[in-house]
Amino acid sequence: MVPPPSAARPTGGPPPPPLLPALLRGAAGACPACSKGRLFHGFLRPAPSCSACGTGLARIRSDDAPPYVTLFIVGHIVVPLMLMAERALAPPLWLMVALFLPLAALLSLGLIRPVKGATIGLMLHLGITGDDQPSRGT
Ligand SMILES: [Zn+2]
Repeated sequence: MVPPPSAARPTGGPPPPPLLPALLRGAAGACPACSKGRLFHGFLRPAPSCSACGTGLARIRSDDAPPYVTLFIVGHIVVPLMLMAERALAPPLWLMVALFLPLAALLSLGLIRPVKGATIGLMLHLGITGDDQPSRGT
């Protein structure tokens, strides 16, 4: 049986935020817990903790999830566009590369930060940090 999110979070601290607000706040770059502090300290580096509510943000490790989700979204945008362009216009290969490679790169750069914020919001809601290790019988 999976414990509820409140039971999975570390002891102490505020209760986990509701799912949808946590996702939206994180995607907007705000603290998923309170929406008043900033989530990021750099482009993708989470702030050590929220300046407004003190929630530890740097301890939440989203690892490969944001790039995976970003590439999933970008692929579902760029590949259909490439197929439609190929079918309708049959442009030369150099033009396809010149158009869609920068498009994919720009979309990836534009989406990675909101996706990472939403991922951190989801992890905060679920009460997981990403570095949870099973105990080794000590
Ligand atoms: Zn906060």
